[in-house]
Amino acid sequence: MSYVDEIIQQVKEKNPAQPEFHQAVHEVLESIRPIVDANEEAFRRDAVLERLVNPERQIIFRVPWLDDEGNAHVNTGYRVQFNSAIGPYKGGLRLHPSVNIGIIKFLGFEQIFKNSLTGLPIGGGKGGSDFDPKGKSDREIMRFCQSFMTELCKYIGADTDVPAGDIGTGGREIGYMFGQYKRIRGVFEGVLTGKGLTYGGSLARTEATGYGLLYLTDELLRTHGETLKGKTVVVSGAGNVATYAIQKAQQLGAKVVTCSDSTGWVYDPDGIDVAALKEIKEVKRARLTEYKNYRPNSEYHEGKGVWTVKCDVALPCATQNELDIEDAKTLVANGVMAVCEGANMPTTEEATKYFQDNKVYFVPGKAANAGGVATSALEMSQNSERLSWTFEEVDSKLKNIMENLFHNIDEAAKKYGFEGNYVVGANLAGFEKVLNAMTAQGIV
Ligand code: NDP
Repeated sequence: MSYVDEIIQQVKEKNPAQPEFHQAVHEVLESIRPIVDANEEAFRRDAVLERLVNPERQIIFRVPWLDDEGNAHVNTGYRVQFNSAIGPYKGGLRLHPSVNIGIIKFLGFEQIFKNSLTGLPIGGGKGGSDFDPKGKSDREIMRFCQSFMTELCKYIGADTDVPAGDIGTGGREIGYMFGQYKRIRGVFEGVLTGKGLTYGGSLARTEATGYGLLYLTDELLRTHGETLKGKTVVVSGAGNVATYAIQKAQQLGAKVVTCSDSTGWVYDPDGIDVAALKEIKEVKRARLTEYKNYRPNSEYHEGKGVWTVKCDVALPCATQNELDIEDAKTLVANGVMAVCEGANMPTTEEATKYFQDNKVYFVPGKAANAGGVATSALEMSQNSERLSWTFEEVDSKLKNIMENLFHNIDEAAKKYGFEGNYVVGANLAGFEKVLNAMTAQGIV
């Protein structure tokens, strides 16, 4: 059995009931086969793949908190410090009832390659909790975040591990966590990114993932002689990534006709109204059913359905495995030209292959949504030099990073004979740098 197949099997045996982690490992190891096969003996001797798929450290802890009636609740907290070969661990904190160790490991593993692709010195990590922020009062959120950080603060720091936001963790939660870290550790340092602008946050961080996704999508289309101008775009999600993806797509001349949340989706033939979306989701923290009050011409549908809308470009920006083979078939039948992932692994492996087989340009999340973590690294740089850059400065660095990133994955795919396969290109380009750093640092 080849070394790659042996490790894929080992990961499944040693990590039962972690399908998302298996899926992520499978995708990456399949892509880096050309490098592994060419160096099989040396890699086996140095256990390169075993060291790649086993996190450096996994922390699991109890998070007790009190609700407004004084009742105690207990959630589970996680931080997986996956790989620090190229820099301090970096990756978000997800607060969602679906969180478990397998989900955090899949996200942490993907983060290694994504962070490498940004060209910035950041290693891979991820964390979170199965806490559900929905329906909780502001004080309950605060008590949860404080309890979570009371434990997590023992393991993180500006030069060791710098968490950020993710699903369920926005500016409010980062603020409460930062306050508790500072209180316990007694240091004001850039230990978290996504901070508020008055205490060390970076301009353009809020917009970065969505904007970065569109800078990359635009560069992809330009490389193929097209632009976003006049294109119809469908977006899933209605959170941080989706909102700013919609905004930038509109600025670049596209028409975005959908968005969705965990209960339903909206079709707005005149183009999504971003101001209304922000008010519903960021201010009122309400459901998308409210959207019709702002835009009477729009339609609201329960359940899943954005992928049934005819479009040129599809941008999945909600959550993992939200776009399956049936969705892919519908999109292809409707003439989709490009699919770029704003969320992490929103497309199933089968759907990804279907897009590639049908000549749809497909860019995986680890490349397409890397603008968020790249700007987090820019926030770290600003914190280290105790300076703040202007919005334009950060935004233009982000644009450069995303354009370079696209060309790097394009070149890597060509170099190894997989022209146009951006999944393989992203994994190979991300892996090459990490491998180089791991080799230089010895067996650690
Ligand atoms: P948010 O919490 O701001 O928004 C998530 C959106 O997806 C919400 O509209 C939510 O619906 C919907 N959603 C969440 N879970 C599900 C589900 N199980 N089924 C259907 N819809 C769901 O998160 P972000 O926008 O920050 O993150 C979205 C994705 O992008 C995630 O995969 C995240 O890992 C990834 N990502 C985020 C980055 C960032 O900078 N924020 C950086 C890189 C990747 P509802 O409104 O009902 O909760």
